[in-house]
Amino acid sequence: MGKLSGKYAIVTGGGKGIGETIVNRFLVDGIEGVAVLEYDGKLLEQLISDLGEVGDKVLPIQCDVSNEAQVKTAVAQAVERFGSVDILVNNAGITRDSMFHKMADDAWDAVVNVNLKGPYHLCKYVIPIMRNQAYGRIVNISSVSAFGNAGQANYAASKAGLIGFTKTLAKEGGPKNIIVNCVAPGYIETDMYNNVPQEIITEHMKLIPLRRLGQPNEVASAVSFLASDDASFISGQCLIISGGATT
Ligand code: NDP
Repeated sequence: MGKLSGKYAIVTGGGKGIGETIVNRFLVDGIEGVAVLEYDGKLLEQLISDLGEVGDKVLPIQCDVSNEAQVKTAVAQAVERFGSVDILVNNAGITRDSMFHKMADDAWDAVVNVNLKGPYHLCKYVIPIMRNQAYGRIVNISSVSAFGNAGQANYAASKAGLIGFTKTLAKEGGPKNIIVNCVAPGYIETDMYNNVPQEIITEHMKLIPLRRLGQPNEVASAVSFLASDDASFISGQCLIISGGATT
């Protein structure tokens, strides 16, 4: 019996990076079924093939979280296959970095639409299910950039918005046994991190007491804890996962 036994989850952006690692961690922790909503169909094919037999527990759904109609359909598919959604992880996220005075409108819109409106779409269709069953665990993936990071005004605004969204949903959902938390990772070694210029990483490393970057499994373990009943009296929190770095 794992700590997620008997539970069904939706994980967005689960085709690679932190999201893929969360899916794998959920499977290790005994999840009954997990719908993976991912933009890139090829990543989904690869995920299922990499998982082998345990891939039977995974429902791959190609979906752009910024598109409400696609999210509505995807949540319906997950419910049709699994019968419920107990856990939602809003992980899909993108960056389009530039200094604010040079930032194009479409860079602002793209980031806010995926990182903040995406979780809004998911919650819009998942929270009624959780309210009906009087059980839900939502984990949103924010970022330490929420506290301010030059070159990321769009990303920081979206991730800070996600913290306020989390804390509000926690207050509203509590009476229905819906627990909502977020994590705010620092630099984690994934494809997203590959976009960050080396000189920024070198400078940033000096501010990390552990003197190294984080790994996706170090985020996934915290997400699995917050999604489980081990965290049954923790709600509305933002757990910073940054090797001790303060912002
Ligand atoms: P990756 O870029 O490695 O993975 C993100 C995944 O989300 C990709 O599979 C991507 O698909 C998918 N995705 C992007 N846009 C959409 C969309 N519109 N709909 C559905 N899926 C989408 O990023 P990470 O794993 O590094 O990041 C995961 C989360 O963690 C993000 O929210 C990020 O902001 C956050 N985070 C990451 C940090 C880091 O240092 N890596 C630090 C702090 C927070 P595709 O490849 O096709 O775009």
